[in-house]
Amino acid sequence: MDCVFCNIVAGKIPSKKVYENETAVAFLDINPRNPGHTLVIPKKHYQTILDMPDDEAGRLFEVVKKVAVAAKKGTEAEGISIVQSNGPAAGQIVPHVHFHVIPRFRNEGPIGLESVLPNKRMDETTMDKIAESIKSGFVQQKESGEVENTEESKEDEEINFDF
Ligand code: AMP
Ligand code: ZN
Repeated sequence: MDCVFCNIVAGKIPSKKVYENETAVAFLDINPRNPGHTLVIPKKHYQTILDMPDDEAGRLFEVVKKVAVAAKKGTEAEGISIVQSNGPAAGQIVPHVHFHVIPRFRNEGPIGLESVLPNKRMDETTMDKIAESIKSGFVQQKESGEVENTEESKEDEEINFDF
């Protein structure tokens, strides 16, 4: 498969690697949003975190946390943002799981949320309905015993909430 991040893992594309273990690789983002902007990826190709077995996702997040601590110390940042998107609808461009670890400095403000997703006021009945739908998602997950596959078929699912 022609995946840019798989090629980085394989050493076929150069990268500024800052950390590596048996599970994950961390390297500088080629278009840094701040000095020290680092991507943490699993060595094995998964499109989204939803496709990963729980234990692998857990091990990946351990590396994210280690990188966050190192990047904060190394860049003398005042904070760290961790950004992770799943699927094109969520803004994921490179289809190989990655966490952005971004050193942050005073007065920069929150990342994106308010500009991309302005607050949608919802009444209590709608909030209850949404909470129930998520709880039913847990039941479905338990019943299927599988990780989700977010190939295109899932993108077409209809959302019934009236936002
Ligand atoms: P996303 O929009 O979350 O999919 O982010 C993909 C990120 O990958 C972007 O911030 C890109 O700058 C970064 N990126 C793409 N190609 C490379 C590369 N060869 N080396 C380092 N970072 C890359
Ligand atoms: Zn890949």
